[in-house]
Amino acid sequence: MPNIAHTQPHVYRVRVAVPVHIFDCFDYRLSPEQYQQAQVGARVAISFGRQNLVGVIVEKLAPDHPIDPRFKLKAISELLDQEAILPAEVLTLLTWSANYYQFPIGEVIQTALPALLRQGKPYNLLARVWKVLDLEAEAKLKRSEKQRDAYKILKLHPQGTLEHILNLSGIDNATLKALSNKGIIQCELETQDFSPEPVQMAQMPLSANPDQTHAIKSILKAQQRYQAFLLDGLTGSGKTEVYLQVMQQVLKQGKQVLVLVPEIGLTPQTISRFQSRFHCHIALLHSGLNDNKRLQAWQAAQTGKASIVLGTRSAIYTAMPNLGLIILDEEHDLSFKQQEGFRYHARDVALYRAAQRKCPVILGSATPSIDSYHLVEQGKLTCLELNQRAGTALLPKMHVIDLTVTQKQHGISQQLILEIKHRLEKKEQVLIFLNRRGYAPVLLCEQCGWQASCSNCDANMTLHYQPYQHLHCHHCGTIKSLPEHCPACQQESLKPIGMGTAKVEEHLQSLFPQYPVIRVDRDSTSRVGSWQKIQDTIHKNETAILLGTQMLAKGHHFPYVTLVAILDIDAGLLSVDFRAPERTAQLIVQVAGRSGRGEKKGDVYLQTYRPEHPLLQTLLHEDYRHFAKQTLHDRKVSQMPPYRSTILIRCESKDQAHNQQFLCKMATLLREQSQMSIDIWGPIPAPMERKAGRYQAHMVLLSSQRAQMHFYVRTWWQQLLQLKPNDCKVNIDVDPQELN
Ligand code: ADP
Ligand code: ZN
Ligand code: ZN
Repeated sequence: MPNIAHTQPHVYRVRVAVPVHIFDCFDYRLSPEQYQQAQVGARVAISFGRQNLVGVIVEKLAPDHPIDPRFKLKAISELLDQEAILPAEVLTLLTWSANYYQFPIGEVIQTALPALLRQGKPYNLLARVWKVLDLEAEAKLKRSEKQRDAYKILKLHPQGTLEHILNLSGIDNATLKALSNKGIIQCELETQDFSPEPVQMAQMPLSANPDQTHAIKSILKAQQRYQAFLLDGLTGSGKTEVYLQVMQQVLKQGKQVLVLVPEIGLTPQTISRFQSRFHCHIALLHSGLNDNKRLQAWQAAQTGKASIVLGTRSAIYTAMPNLGLIILDEEHDLSFKQQEGFRYHARDVALYRAAQRKCPVILGSATPSIDSYHLVEQGKLTCLELNQRAGTALLPKMHVIDLTVTQKQHGISQQLILEIKHRLEKKEQVLIFLNRRGYAPVLLCEQCGWQASCSNCDANMTLHYQPYQHLHCHHCGTIKSLPEHCPACQQESLKPIGMGTAKVEEHLQSLFPQYPVIRVDRDSTSRVGSWQKIQDTIHKNETAILLGTQMLAKGHHFPYVTLVAILDIDAGLLSVDFRAPERTAQLIVQVAGRSGRGEKKGDVYLQTYRPEHPLLQTLLHEDYRHFAKQTLHDRKVSQMPPYRSTILIRCESKDQAHNQQFLCKMATLLREQSQMSIDIWGPIPAPMERKAGRYQAHMVLLSSQRAQMHFYVRTWWQQLLQLKPNDCKVNIDVDPQELN
């Protein structure tokens, strides 16, 4: 007898990745007609608990797929897209990332979607086009010059003009609205054109030097397959020229190129280098865009209209149907690793993506990461070196200033003051670097030793005089007013100790009153337009002292700078983080690379109390590659990353004992489950134990068998989330770049 009772009626369902912090996807019911239309990679509106959310279909279940009786099937509210907006390739990439970084797929997918699409707005944004209705309206506009000018321009284009083009030419929306209120013009909504735009060369390539030629040829040989390259060349050795010439060949075949740059590196200078070489549509994807612009750029990439996509970290997830080359410039830069939430590393995702797409990927840097050199050692990256500085620029010379013996004023040695004076007298620019903003890092009572510290963090508060006098905690943002007396002994004996950029600015200005001192840090550039003003001065070849934090070390070209000084290199030399030497060496070489780009030779001065430090000695007498070789050796001996893979577990709560108890219990569980194959360090209090009023603890997992460790940790992490007490917050950082 046929077993009719067990035959399940057909139920049409899709599996949806929902943007909530839960690892599973959820099944939703839909009508047979909707099921027909539904596409994997399209958005659906759904209700989830009491929320209305936008999810993405990751699977269409077969109608006879067994139903899980534990869950009540809800119907979707609406199909939002007729077609997939995330192609299968990108969904696979996102799924891989979610697995690798142990983060819920529903939230990972959000990274790949522009805000408007995450909110459920229609994919086809209609363009606003303004058209003239009344062709004889000039006389009516005598009173407003603005409206008259706008009207004249609009009249020149009877077929209509795009609103954003009008905005670009200085016509604001208020003017358009006023004209439309008078019935003179009207706005129409039109669908946008996404047909591909042809690529044309706007400028001839330079004639490549032998190293560049070798690099270009090697990369082009790999055009039809996956191969990863490390382009290792000092600042100014012509890496960008290599990118441009390889791109030219790839674009010529109608393929798209994805270029990733550090967050701070996407300057008008960078953009214009690509624009002046190629006439084609370039889509820019960075955090400064408004939602509309971002969606437009994303669509230009996704439809193939844009031949070049230039973006920061998250652009690695952009859909590009004709992707043929990925370039990651300044590959050592920390901003490629997301430091919160979904902690992916765009460099590692880029390698996966290129392998998936079977296309070449270039990682470029003057100071490649130790991780990348390790991949070269393993044969996973092909190293291409550029050893000549292109053009006529000479390499700067490095000098170490021993602070233990020299005279100094407010942290600047007499020798350095003299050198600065020489340069200024020769009408050259100098660049002074100090990685500490504010006026002074410590406010100390000279009578009793009291220090201003943050009540929420284990940290001192920084003294600021601008825009008004206050104490500021750089870790949690707490602001306090400046006490007049010492709160402990009531004496008027409070004194700023140490130096921040604002104090050095004051000092330099008093030493060199006839020259401008331009300070660049987060405080000085937060004022609107100030960064632009600074850039203008830098490129105008005016004699000046430039003073700044890390912001100044990255990606900017300072053609007229001939002297660079780092005032305090010791913070990096003495840090406990095992990556601190790598970061410090990169900083020194990068900062040094800012000088001597023009015809004049540059000098670099490093002030230190530890002149004999091996890192400084290596950089002084050898070079960065030697330093990297030694570091690789040290890491191998101590079995530190990249020789072992790491995962960092962070736990925070109101009570350090809670963190410790919970993590200890979880460590025991992991030891049992992994049969002791994972080395576990900690739990220990984090380097800054208390931050924003909460206690932080760390536990580090290490293993030389990455895949095996990830396998055990996957199940364990799910258990951990289940067992976690409510008052603890935890997060997992796979391949952490910073142990804080
Ligand atoms: P990097 O990207 O390594 O810092 P760039 O590609 O920006 O180096 O090159 C530095 C400077 O040298 C630029 O002004 C560039 O135009 C010039 N340059 C690069 N390659 C050549 C070449 N083959 N011949 C002449 N000048 C070059
Ligand atoms: Zn604080
Ligand atoms: Zn005191």
